[in-house]
Amino acid sequence: MSFDSLGLSAPLLKAVANQGYDTPSPIQAQAIPAVIAGKDVMAAAQTGTGKTAGFTLPILERLSGGPRVKSNQVRALVLTPTRELAAQVAESVATYAKHLPLSSAVVFGGVKVNPQMMRLRQGADVLVATPGRLMDLYNQKAVRFDQLEVLVLDEADRMLDMGFIRDIRKIIAVLPKQRQNLLFSATFSDEIRALAKGLVNNPVEISV
Ligand code: AMP
Repeated sequence: MSFDSLGLSAPLLKAVANQGYDTPSPIQAQAIPAVIAGKDVMAAAQTGTGKTAGFTLPILERLSGGPRVKSNQVRALVLTPTRELAAQVAESVATYAKHLPLSSAVVFGGVKVNPQMMRLRQGADVLVATPGRLMDLYNQKAVRFDQLEVLVLDEADRMLDMGFIRDIRKIIAVLPKQRQNLLFSATFSDEIRALAKGLVNNPVEISV
């Protein structure tokens, strides 16, 4: 199995090769074609499985065909529980997007909000965010979701453990109804299943 057969275009295959990856991990082999096909995905996957590339690569593939992002708008939103994970995911997005004309940004709490507001003015094809700070920025009208196409909840179980459920629900409520949803969680508790029920439509279920 190689990355060539998953539906990724040359700029992304080049970025993958530059990282030194030659075989897709199991989650990548299953998630990449499903996400490119526009399907919702619900995946049980721990850190270390290659889940980040599993959602980032096909999202970049989808976004590369679409319209330019407008001021303050976001086309794909990745929510993560912690600033460390947000920074790590954002770094992966920037690495994989290197040969594509797509922009990315990251916002999280505990640092000044002003530089983040300034950055969001340019819009971001992919925004990686922690829920609390994103809600603040939305309330201040620094970010808008009219162009949003894809939502990812990364490490959803940790986000719930950290008490982000209200922010997550508020964010989901202001997103366009027509969108693709990807849910990644190490575990699938009743609370995650309840969240998933109102979120994903006819999902491809992946367990690795
Ligand atoms: P993640 O589970 O997304 O946190 O990724 C775990 C680690 O695996 C990261 O350091 C990635 O750079 C690496 N990785 C992801 N996909 C592959 C792959 N297909 N082959 C080798 N390493 C990979």
